[in-house]
Amino acid sequence: MILKWQMAAWEVISAHRGKLPHALLMIGRPGLGKSLLASSLAQALLCEAPAGRGLPCGACPACTWFLQGNHPDFRLLQPESMAAEAAEDTPARKDKKKSEQIRIEQVRATEGFLAVGTHRGGARIILIDPAEAMNPAAQSALLKNLEEPPPGTLYLLVSSRPQRLLQTIRSRCMVIPVAAPAAAEALQWLESEGIKDAGEALAAAAGAPLAARAAAEVEPARREFLNRLADPAADPLALAQSCDKIEPALVVGWMQRWVYDLLSAQTAGRVRYNVSAQRAIEKISRPLDAAALTGLLLRLGAARALAQHPLNPRLFFEDLLLDYRAVASGKGA
Ligand SMILES: [Zn+2]
Repeated sequence: MILKWQMAAWEVISAHRGKLPHALLMIGRPGLGKSLLASSLAQALLCEAPAGRGLPCGACPACTWFLQGNHPDFRLLQPESMAAEAAEDTPARKDKKKSEQIRIEQVRATEGFLAVGTHRGGARIILIDPAEAMNPAAQSALLKNLEEPPPGTLYLLVSSRPQRLLQTIRSRCMVIPVAAPAAAEALQWLESEGIKDAGEALAAAAGAPLAARAAAEVEPARREFLNRLADPAADPLALAQSCDKIEPALVVGWMQRWVYDLLSAQTAGRVRYNVSAQRAIEKISRPLDAAALTGLLLRLGAARALAQHPLNPRLFFEDLLLDYRAVASGKGA
């Protein structure tokens, strides 16, 4: 599926069709749909009966295999943790922590794939997404493969943080920037996706439509969490328990913006993020200690870095919420 605002990038790629270099690097902020674009491109290049503008037909054997995730001339390299998320229903080995990185073994495993001829006589594609998840060893291994790939091979790299890739990798790729759509176009899309308050969601996501949609989907959970955070009688341990089903980084972000607003209401008399809760924030913040709030904000900033996959999410949130409660009840940091 190509999103409307990606057509510009799509045209750039289509113009090179048949003479594409052997490596493309799609870059752009998170939430713009780069992964969708890259996988559509892979499907289009494997498609055996492309439709107009080079779009995949969606019906040929190649498209069918691709959509089922088993096209023999396609490989996807992603961190184990993401693959595990995609296959959530399978009983995963919960005791073993899934890697957040793309490891050298994964890059090496593609070498056998490249050593034999293609199954369908067309392109052979390796999609690496997110490319910055490759650890240094994996990047070095990839670099070697990029030097002389077999004919017809395309490496498709997707990255929101291309600066984390080796310069020598970047220089071997044709770079395709994926831009944010105009606000009107993004709003139209969000509304067509059934997102209420699309304007607010888009602003909060700094103009990135997929990020805005993802945030809108968890909006009810966010409101519920903040209502309980605002309630001095709410039990921090019960609140920590209620975070179990929400991505930890999201919850830390909600807390950061909430505490920022408490501090801002107290010191500058205004609220930046939680505008609809302005009155409650002003009331809560009035008796609080600015230094303690600043300390808490720093603590949350540090927690954000650990929030991707905390070892024990329950304890992680119990600590943060007990700290918050201590500050919010005026008992210090
Ligand atoms: Zn097709």
